[in-house]
Amino acid sequence: MLRISQYLREVAQAERTGRYPAAPATRARAGGPRPVVIWNLTRRCNLTCKHCYALSADHAYPGELDEAQMLAVLDDLKAYGVPALILSGGEPLLSPHLWAVARRARELGFHLGLSTNGTLIDAAMADRIASHGFDYVGISLDGLRETHDRFRRLEGAFDASLAALRMLQGRGLNVGMRYTLTAMNAQDFAPLLELMRAERIGKFYFSHLNYAGRGNIHRARDARFAATREAMDRLFQAAWSAAWNAEPAEYVSGNNDADGVYLLRWVQARWPEWAAPLRERLVAWGGNASGVGVANIDNLGHVHPDTMWWHHDLGDVRERPFSAIWEDRGDALMDGLKRKPRPLQGRCAACPQQAICGGNTRVRAQQVTGNAWAEDPGCYLEDAELGIEHEMA
Ligand code: SF4
Repeated sequence: MLRISQYLREVAQAERTGRYPAAPATRARAGGPRPVVIWNLTRRCNLTCKHCYALSADHAYPGELDEAQMLAVLDDLKAYGVPALILSGGEPLLSPHLWAVARRARELGFHLGLSTNGTLIDAAMADRIASHGFDYVGISLDGLRETHDRFRRLEGAFDASLAALRMLQGRGLNVGMRYTLTAMNAQDFAPLLELMRAERIGKFYFSHLNYAGRGNIHRARDARFAATREAMDRLFQAAWSAAWNAEPAEYVSGNNDADGVYLLRWVQARWPEWAAPLRERLVAWGGNASGVGVANIDNLGHVHPDTMWWHHDLGDVRERPFSAIWEDRGDALMDGLKRKPRPLQGRCAACPQQAICGGNTRVRAQQVTGNAWAEDPGCYLEDAELGIEHEMA
């Protein structure tokens, strides 16, 4: 996840004071950093959204973890030093164990997030969520009313989700909108940003669709990449406006770590003197976090490098503790993901910007080519923009 606002606030401060702020102090953790765990408590969902990675439906899924198993997993995650949990689904509000897990997670001191579609949240449910002390609740809005309801395949979904955002915010919760860009909802992106501002929603999470790409194409002329660049320009502008006006709104993006490189170019074009310190910060971030800074436990207790890797199973928390599964580098994919630099191939291997994006989204490369280390077909920057040199024939 790229914290766009965080970087642009630093650039804004540099513009105001003439000095780039010092990097925030970080303490290295003995044994290395621990991942944020996205935990799909259940696969059951009341919606059947078009872009759902979990292919969820509204029925019980056999073999899901029971409450005692979930609480045991929590203890292991805590002992291992996992700092944050995002409880997801399916629709996590349909998990009978959500509240017990949330209560215990709070007792253990995890930073606790909830990722929901929002349609099941009425006033009583909003009270219940607020009373469980979630640090953050993210609700997906894929567009304005007509678009969102079509995506979610439910009339009234938009109104219900927006009402949920308002109810939770009214109870003092930190809430955010999550939006996934596709060709079918790109037209609603600007109005959604407006809606976020009008509703004073604290966070906008812009997600790229992890779609399959093609081989060697002219990226600047490709309609999808052009739409992506246009959306990113708009997102950066919104984040800059908030940063410059000292508004607290947070803008972040995910599922395409080339965004970090694009942000650097965006800043370089406007304030070239701050490009070098920004680059240092982006290299320290390091881009894609699959298998390192983010982990996934699915509804059956299987561990994956992130939520897009459900077809790659690292182990079952019922058989081995999460910590043992996560540390095991006998799995070739995990070994590669944890290496620095990663064993990239193709244009990613030749790219001078790989220290920023970390080679971007490996699952996209794997799904298109069968090779997890091939170049990421979702990278929307041109070779010349990245400084990739070609030998003359
Ligand atoms: S070519 Fe690969 S390494 Fe370079 S910015 Fe794009 S995704 Fe990252």
